[in-house]
Amino acid sequence: HATKKTMADHLRKYESLFTLTPQRMRMIVEAFKDTLELGLSKHKQTVPMIPTYVFGWPTGQEKGDYLSVDLGGTNLRVCLVTLEGEGKFEVTQTKYRLTEEQKQEEGQKLFDFCAECLKTFVDTNLQDENSGLKLQPGEKLPLGFTFSYPCTQERIDHGELIRWTKGFGAPNTEGHDVAAMFRASLEKFELPIELTALINDTTGTLIASNYVNPKNKIAVIFGTGCNAAYMEYVKDIPKIHDVGIGLDGQMAINCEWGAFDSFEHEHLPRTKYDQIVDETSNKPGEQAFEKLISGRYLGEILRLVLCELIDEGVLFLGQNTYKLEVPYAFDTAFLSLLESDPTDELLMAIGIFTHFFALETTLAERQFFRALAKLIGRRAARLSACGIAAIVSKMGYLEEGCSVGADGSLYNKYPGFADRVHEGLQDVFGDKGRNIVTHHAEDGSGVGSAIIAAMTKARK
Ligand code: ADP
Repeated sequence: HATKKTMADHLRKYESLFTLTPQRMRMIVEAFKDTLELGLSKHKQTVPMIPTYVFGWPTGQEKGDYLSVDLGGTNLRVCLVTLEGEGKFEVTQTKYRLTEEQKQEEGQKLFDFCAECLKTFVDTNLQDENSGLKLQPGEKLPLGFTFSYPCTQERIDHGELIRWTKGFGAPNTEGHDVAAMFRASLEKFELPIELTALINDTTGTLIASNYVNPKNKIAVIFGTGCNAAYMEYVKDIPKIHDVGIGLDGQMAINCEWGAFDSFEHEHLPRTKYDQIVDETSNKPGEQAFEKLISGRYLGEILRLVLCELIDEGVLFLGQNTYKLEVPYAFDTAFLSLLESDPTDELLMAIGIFTHFFALETTLAERQFFRALAKLIGRRAARLSACGIAAIVSKMGYLEEGCSVGADGSLYNKYPGFADRVHEGLQDVFGDKGRNIVTHHAEDGSGVGSAIIAAMTKARK
């Protein structure tokens, strides 16, 4: 009878499924570029290329005190940002926890809570005589509001919520101008604050990273989801030529690129595990690019491979695997831990499998898990490189080179993620790929939002 396959034999199969060749990457980059252009030329495309009404780069000389509020998925963050010019700034911040009830409460009540937190923040941080902040009677502090839920915007200080995401469900908010709702709450609390800019966190990251280093031309986020923003010439945004700044101007574009290849599924190499992730997700067909890359899904992809090997009788024979069979039970942070384990025995892997899943493992199995994490993590980084390469190539940044500001837990905490992105860029562009370098970006929703508020004020 046939000899039993070793874990190394199994690994070979997954290597061929999850490996992206440079040639395949270049094909993806070409398709990605076309998709970006389509989104700029027509409304309502899969990758929507959302105009942000942030016009051009900051000068780096923006100065003064600005407030920012970030309504995130778990926290409400309020910052006072003092821009000092020359790319320098100081930040004072406080976080307020959002309860699940508040996310489902009447929309106006949610904004009232934001205003109430702002009031507490202002009372504790701005009334201090030594703070140097003197508001003249009638003077208002400009506020940048980071609201990272899909909105249609026609100007910077306005935005209609299309639909809630990230677990929010506050009634009477979808279809409404959230900036106007927030303004009503600010008035209710009689705050000397003027909401001047409504922004998305990726756009904030773009502007903040350019403020500190003008070589930063692109921003990317790799967290629960994934997204990118960059600065486009108005002449190359055919769907909105008439924004009132002339065709020579520039405007930041929030790509919402997680949607690349959604529905058609023509360009990205999807394995059967990726298909299961998609089909069992709450939005099948959507966010196809994001589902191969972001922190929300990488652990699940690895778990589905393990489940297949359990079904085939390869792994954990005679052990009870029910804990591992729960969808999303395997966190993406475990992939980081598997990859960074410094011990020969792979003690970290022993810890994860015994503690979280009550499973015993052999050394050969643990080496397999680590190798599998590497395949899945590497594929995510190389696909990210394809997205970055598409923007670089579209904008002609390759020759002179540019920096890419990156943020999110996957980028910041996954070992080797940045190196793999860089390696991927070289596979796409050859040696010139070295001209494109990613690095950790400044905080977009605090600092970025304040800079945008400053830029907006300067334009008025
Ligand atoms: P968000 O995108 O929600 O603002 P983060 O940038 O922190 O927040 O991303 C959260 C995602 O990152 C989660 O999906 C989580 O599984 C993943 N994550 C958290 N820690 C790590 C880690 N050490 N390595 C890899 N992924 C991680």
